[in-house]
Amino acid sequence: MTYENSLTFAQKADQEDPLRKWRSEFHFPQINGQDAYYFTGNSLGLQPKRTRSFVEEEMKKWETYGVEGHFVPKERPWLKFHEASKESLAKIVGAKPIEVVSMNNLSVNLHLLMVSFYRPTKERFKIICEAGAFPSDQYMFESQLHFHGLNPDEALIELKPREGENKLHIEDILSAIDEHSNELALVLFGGLQYYTGQLFDMKTITEAGHKAGAFVGYDLAHAAGNVPLQLHDWNVDFATWCSYKYLNSGPGNVSGIFVHERFAHDTDLPRFAGWWGHDEGERFQMKKGFKPMPGADGWQLSNVNVIGTAAHLASLQIFDEVGMEALREKSLKLTGYLEFIIDQLSGEDKLFEIITPRNPEERGAQLCIFFHRNGKLMFDYLVEQGVIGDWREPNVIRIAPAPLYNSFEDVYHFGRLLKEAIEKYADA
Ligand SMILES: *Cc1c(COP(=O)(O)O)cnc(C)c1O
Repeated sequence: MTYENSLTFAQKADQEDPLRKWRSEFHFPQINGQDAYYFTGNSLGLQPKRTRSFVEEEMKKWETYGVEGHFVPKERPWLKFHEASKESLAKIVGAKPIEVVSMNNLSVNLHLLMVSFYRPTKERFKIICEAGAFPSDQYMFESQLHFHGLNPDEALIELKPREGENKLHIEDILSAIDEHSNELALVLFGGLQYYTGQLFDMKTITEAGHKAGAFVGYDLAHAAGNVPLQLHDWNVDFATWCSYKYLNSGPGNVSGIFVHERFAHDTDLPRFAGWWGHDEGERFQMKKGFKPMPGADGWQLSNVNVIGTAAHLASLQIFDEVGMEALREKSLKLTGYLEFIIDQLSGEDKLFEIITPRNPEERGAQLCIFFHRNGKLMFDYLVEQGVIGDWREPNVIRIAPAPLYNSFEDVYHFGRLLKEAIEKYADA
């Protein structure tokens, strides 16, 4: 695609976009009497119009059946509700249905999966992760290490980009794994770095981690529904993600987990147990002795949050209809267009620069723009003009055109408004 920074080009690109009809399936916040220029699908995805009816369906069941809603309804009785998302989730993360389930929230699931996959010994106790991980993940590491009586300064190896660079080179990740291989218990990365937008080579990292004798897992908060994943084929041990970013399932909604099929019947793996993970056939016998369900289901603790999961299902239905491949194809073009426009505007004096990797294979929808001066003034102007983006102190804007509902025209207008902001505030 040869880009042009013009409204005519953007409108033509939208006309030719095979996914253009999906935009009208979402509610856009209204600002100044029109659809916002919404670029924060990486933080909270927009509400699909069909979500309300999915939620109302469960409200109706509750109204009609009370507790019998667990058994009586023909469509998705609550007892089986956790099964409804499996096929769709499996497609999104490249898994088998037995390997995935939606449950709890992301930080909770990280901790639960650490119980199974981080079992430090005297010799093997180190964890490798990326430096500057999302705060929740940092607190998770720190508290897990304290829980095991370990010192995070010794046990946690945080990999930083090379001096003066923003991305982590795969060679550097591999050599760190190699260097610590005798003491390494776990490699746990954000699959797509939430801040820089770097997409890691999970296949290669997983292989190396396994070769070193460690477990390998991923926090896919920014990857699920954004980039195609092949967790099963990559041999990833475990992963977890949230559903409210690119997966458009609503604020704080249910998370998902992946546990590789090779652990599906592994009852030796330690885990924290609850009744919803117990053998379905016996769940209501209320007996002693935990017998996990096979696969990811065996990590469930509590009965399903039905209302939230209903909203999740509405969104997953859209992903089923669109498919990750078509989504990625559009995403590459759309984010490429954003990159083209930002580069044009940054000008000779490099007022700002993109710190997300330039190689489209090493990123998803999001670009992270680093301002060398007056970023906040320009950002505030964008907000006034109807742009919803994400400001990170001290000088970064993250912009994520979501391929399901953002258009080339949105990106064009972002550029038009950024140009105005530059004219007004670059030298203010
Ligand atoms: C968004 C995000 C979280 C949020 O965790 P919750 O438990 O859903 O509040 C955690 N980790 C990463 C990497 C994220 O991007």
